Amino acid sequence: MNNKLYGNLIFELSHPGRRGYSLPKNTFGHHEIPSNIKRSTDAALPECDEMTVVRHYTNHSENNFGVDNGFYPLGSCTMKYNPIINEEVAAMPSFSNIHPLQPEHTVQGALEAEYNLQRALSALTGLADFTLNPYAGAHGELTGLMIIRSYHQSRGDEKRKKVIVPDSAHGTNPASAAVCGLEIVEVKSTSEGLVDVEDLKPLLGDDIAGMMMTNPNTLGLFETDIPEIAKLVHECGGLMYYDGANLNPLLGVARPGDMGFDVMHINLHKTFSTPHGGGGPGSGPVGVREDLVRFLPKPHVVKTSEGFTTEKGCETEYNVESSHVSTFLGNFLVSLRAYVYILTLGKENIKMVGPLATLNANYVKECLKDVYELPIDVLCKHEFVFDGLKDKSTGITTMDVAKRLLDYGYHAPTIYFPLLFHEAMMIEPTENESKETIDSFISIMRTIAQEAHDTPEIVKDAPRTTPIGRVDDVLAAKHPVVTYRQMLQEAQ
Ligand SMILES: *Cc1c(COP(=O)(O)O)cnc(C)c1O
Repeated sequence: MNNKLYGNLIFELSHPGRRGYSLPKNTFGHHEIPSNIKRSTDAALPECDEMTVVRHYTNHSENNFGVDNGFYPLGSCTMKYNPIINEEVAAMPSFSNIHPLQPEHTVQGALEAEYNLQRALSALTGLADFTLNPYAGAHGELTGLMIIRSYHQSRGDEKRKKVIVPDSAHGTNPASAAVCGLEIVEVKSTSEGLVDVEDLKPLLGDDIAGMMMTNPNTLGLFETDIPEIAKLVHECGGLMYYDGANLNPLLGVARPGDMGFDVMHINLHKTFSTPHGGGGPGSGPVGVREDLVRFLPKPHVVKTSEGFTTEKGCETEYNVESSHVSTFLGNFLVSLRAYVYILTLGKENIKMVGPLATLNANYVKECLKDVYELPIDVLCKHEFVFDGLKDKSTGITTMDVAKRLLDYGYHAPTIYFPLLFHEAMMIEPTENESKETIDSFISIMRTIAQEAHDTPEIVKDAPRTTPIGRVDDVLAAKHPVVTYRQMLQEAQ
């Protein structure tokens, strides 16, 4: 849509005196606002009629791309379809209008839903109990590491300050460890893309608090040496942390708790279909094995003979620092969506999620590996990584391919991550896409590979059909123009 006509900012469309609403008549009587908190000038709010406001936001929203309007193969992000029923339940006033400080006997249904979700996550992962409090995957990692730290402190084992993180890990892993005050020790990957056990052995010692592993890892590969790794880490006194942000391919197939992991987080906003993108709302529940349950943050929903209640205080002196990681019970409506998703699929259907996600990823990989470079050619899980085009003579980069996909109406895959390859392109189709959608994506990817050969300038110039063309990344990073006013000034 033509943004010039409708304006970039609602403020540009403002005309003094225009109104899109009328406030109801004051029936509360006149109450003078104390002068010390009363503003002296009017707020600079836009003044627009209702239709202008509707068009302005509708046109902007149409510039948006989401799972609801197109294929979104963003690897490591599991941009899966968010079923409408999740939204309908989350919007029910009996859930959306409750207050966290309401007496517990008035919100038994909400607490029961939370409790049941905790139980369902335990059943799916093989861990004893979960907290739903963390707001995101990274927040879950931090919470989990705090639990690990509290565990060591509770045993008077103060010198364990190091966390082992594989070189293929998501950037949040080392970041969370650093925020938790732990030192990061990197373990290398083998040429097959798996954690190198030989590289790991010399890193282990009595200063290791734990090891973080992602499985399937960020290359979409199942870490086959987990039993041995878990044994080695446990023998040296460390705990095993499972980054379960991408649990999708394992749902109903394998459980981290059975593999020897002690603590894990899950991204409800990936695996469990709650919306994500644009910064939230997310949810990163953390699960622990039995003897770590006492370190879970509070409040925590439990079931008693009288009904559902929340444990609030700290049970031990050791969980003080991990006792509160969020206000109340985290993003309740996100938890609720995940619970609805689990119930909608049911015990049997949820077992199809992992195999279908895996099938779809392998299908895309096999159909494209003759034109895109596949550095690790093995059976993948829910996602896989190409290293740019196979024909390196075209000069067309992964960035060019990603931009060209936008012209064809697709979201780009994750690019230049993981850092193990120069031209990484990480593709994750998810389980919900039809064969027709996947086939047309494959066909467009092949078309772009052909264009790279025949008409490379078209690919270099992409995108041409989006509201904004190719952005100069370096300029954008070095000289960001982040406000509209700044943009106007620069334009003058
Ligand atoms: C997405 C992701 C995270 C981080 O989750 P956020 O909710 O974005 O904080 C961590 N680890 C892996 C492997 C991920 O894919």
